[in-house]
Amino acid sequence: MLRFTELDQSYPAKRPANERRGDFDEIYAPFNPKAGADQAARCSQCGVPFCQSGCPLHNDIPDWLMLAAEGRMREAWERSSATSTLPEICGRICPQDRLCEGACVIEQSGHGAVTIGAVETHITETAWKEGWIEPIHPKRETGFSVGVVGAGPAGLAAAERLREQGHAVTIYDRHDRAGGLLIYGIPNFKLDKSVVERRTQRLEASGVVFKLETELGRDISLDELRSRHDAVFLAIGTYKARALTCPGSGSEGLIPALDYLMASNRRGFGEEIEGEDRLQAKGRKVIVIGGGDTAMDCVRTAIRQGAASVTCLYRRDRENMPGSIREVSHAEEEGVIFEWLSAPLALKGDAARLTGVVAQRMGLGAPDADGRRQPVVLEGAEADLEGDLVIAALGYEAEDISTLGDISATPRGTIRVTQACRTSLPGVYAGGDIVRGASLVVWAIKDGQDAAATIHADLMARAAAGAARELEPAE
Ligand code: FAD
Ligand code: SF4
Ligand code: SF4
Repeated sequence: MLRFTELDQSYPAKRPANERRGDFDEIYAPFNPKAGADQAARCSQCGVPFCQSGCPLHNDIPDWLMLAAEGRMREAWERSSATSTLPEICGRICPQDRLCEGACVIEQSGHGAVTIGAVETHITETAWKEGWIEPIHPKRETGFSVGVVGAGPAGLAAAERLREQGHAVTIYDRHDRAGGLLIYGIPNFKLDKSVVERRTQRLEASGVVFKLETELGRDISLDELRSRHDAVFLAIGTYKARALTCPGSGSEGLIPALDYLMASNRRGFGEEIEGEDRLQAKGRKVIVIGGGDTAMDCVRTAIRQGAASVTCLYRRDRENMPGSIREVSHAEEEGVIFEWLSAPLALKGDAARLTGVVAQRMGLGAPDADGRRQPVVLEGAEADLEGDLVIAALGYEAEDISTLGDISATPRGTIRVTQACRTSLPGVYAGGDIVRGASLVVWAIKDGQDAAATIHADLMARAAAGAARELEPAE
């Protein structure tokens, strides 16, 4: 360990931009065993590991780094999977620069963080390859049944932990495939679909039942679920796109980011797409409005579809973007043009199709509550941008949850919970984006795991109370 002074920071090999522009394959190759062990050995085994505080799951990072450095991969995987149900997914798509790696003391000392995410992926990929990840065989069946609504990371994480405890688990989802945004939002070049599918297949092999194309509020009510199951976990995500309000934004030609990404992901599964012409960037001048992860996924997808040009319009500058800087760098390498400090003033075109965007140039004012500098309008400074596919990627809010029944909501329209994921309805729990607002995969996993622990504790308490009642003498 402590080899950060002699070994440079290195990430797994990244495919050249020219090559990756032409396909949807993941852009990083996995570490080979030597590189994985070397990079793990750069860790200085801090007494107070800041990396762990930077990780929402409080993963035992120094422990599994040491085990990986010593080649004790099975122990490293056992340690890593004790706190995370989807470590190879977090290793690929967590914004590590803002989480564990951003907090690593070696980063602070100027040597470059330990490449924690890449080592985490390497450990779990080794476990898959070696066949250590098997279906779950609980020690006993509890006889309790839990319904999970939403097969995204929060729902999958909860299902895994609940099944381990011996509860029968049924997952309901309105889509035809499990995985939530891991399947229909995040593109393949960040997270290959097979990585998600082998996780859902393992849950199926563990006895978890998937009821797909079943929408809560349409095909089944919350009351029905509550009578069918001993507990219900709601992990339905946030899908209401934030609207653009400038003139022209009512045009049919303005494409919501998730419609565009879902179509691309479905195409990747070999499906035919309804409205293909609207949702395909090939040969077109694409303008994406927004600066978060979704916007980065749209611009990089458009590049791979063979767009004539791809421009990203964002109202702040590079340093003040909400998205991961690593993703911005990938996009720049792949040929995306960034129009920083530019906000849409009006969309050009008619009710059916768009021909471009009039951009308002912006300056930067004082930082806001998040520490990012506020954009301010530069009066009279405008630019005309040509584009025949305009995509809005302004973020997501909760859909109307009042349709689910009498469940308490926050002013933001998300489900209100206590810290232990309990909602206002007895036996109903919630977590992930539908509680936090649009967030990150790692936080959804944490909520799923936490909710499973609460549900298990509540069910065990119920079983103990029932057993105690049975022992009471009859009056
Ligand atoms: P979701 O993943 O949204 O899953 C919710 C599931 O519930 C869906 O399958 C949905 O079909 C289902 N559902 C919804 N309503 C109903 C209903 N009424 N009945 C039945 N089923 C229902 N995070 C990162 O950490 N890294 C990234 O790189 C990253 N990139 C992203 C890119 C995009 C384009 C987007 C949109 C988000 C990205 N995120 C990223 C955020 C991340 O995907 C989410 O925070 C995470 O998926 C939330 O998990 P969840 O389980 O709460 O919800
Ligand atoms: Fe880092 Fe995410 Fe892994 Fe935590 S889960 S160690 S934040 S990559
Ligand atoms: Fe290792 Fe960095 Fe964590 Fe310290 S902060 S234990 S050096 S990974």
